[in-house]
Amino acid sequence: MSLKPIAELGEFGLIEKIAELCEPTLAAAEGLQEGIGDDCAVYRLSESILQVATTDLLVEQVHFDLLYSPLQHLGSKALSVNVSDVAAMNAKPRYALVSIALPPSLPAEAVEQLYKGMAHAAGLYGVALAGGDTSASKSGIVISVTAVGETSPEQLALRSGARVGDMICVTGALGGSAAGLQVLMREKRIMVEHLENNEPYDKNIMANLKEYQGAIQCHLLPSARTDIIDYFHREGITPSAMIDISDGLSQDLQHICRRSGTGAHIEEGRIPLHPDARHIAEEFQHDALDYALGGGEDYQLLFTLGTEKFQNIATHPDITVIGKITPKEEGVNMSDIYGMQIDLAEHKAGFRHF
Ligand SMILES: [Mg+2]
Repeated sequence: MSLKPIAELGEFGLIEKIAELCEPTLAAAEGLQEGIGDDCAVYRLSESILQVATTDLLVEQVHFDLLYSPLQHLGSKALSVNVSDVAAMNAKPRYALVSIALPPSLPAEAVEQLYKGMAHAAGLYGVALAGGDTSASKSGIVISVTAVGETSPEQLALRSGARVGDMICVTGALGGSAAGLQVLMREKRIMVEHLENNEPYDKNIMANLKEYQGAIQCHLLPSARTDIIDYFHREGITPSAMIDISDGLSQDLQHICRRSGTGAHIEEGRIPLHPDARHIAEEFQHDALDYALGGGEDYQLLFTLGTEKFQNIATHPDITVIGKITPKEEGVNMSDIYGMQIDLAEHKAGFRHF
């Protein structure tokens, strides 16, 4: 038997393989409403209460770099990305379990910073940090967070519920995180070069980056849009489908379409771009739109909604309608500002983890 490296399988191939192996356990699970394939697993606690659960792993040198990630930010981000997945189900986060593996040489203050950041974010979301595990690590910091939330059967939003004619909406502005990361990587390169040549360099990278602050904050300190979930619950809005934007608008829209069995059409001119993404793109001679479509890690919400609800969202200052759901045969397309059709399935893929 030839052994195939995971890199060859790709992230989605790997998930498919794992899903296949887990399938028999899902079929036997009473009360489990959704298994692998959405932002959270969904478990029916009672007639009126659904519990949702998700877990995410942050690995040093894969997901973050301590050269430019303050530990307090990192702790906050580790929690926020999980809460974002709970929000993507139109659910309210309740508690989280946090496991960490740490190199024994790490100063104890570092752990304090990490948990301070996490506890601060937990306070903002109303999430209890209710347990976890610790271990030594032989290569860098590993943080695993599991978040649990709650919703009702009427309010649950899966990726699979989009219907032809539904509006496609996004919250906030996109592309900030990828633009911020591009700046941070450049600064890291400069810093490493200086260190290698034994030249002096201001170690406090952040001090020199005022003009990029907004984008850098999007990357290092994203927040989950629980405010939007509160708004939905207050207004009685249940999106027909929803996902949080972690892989980039293009990939995440395709995730909704694949699970819903639909196509989609969005308009470039309507996509809300982060203002910093524009000037950073200019500086790097990059396309700001690419940051939004393929960058990922914006942790905004992408959702679909029947047009009869247009009035409810039209008045919200932070929700933008960017297109509509179409029949599957029409594919997932974007018309650019000149009216040209671009097939998003062919467009450069979103952020790949492997
Ligand atoms: Mg997600």
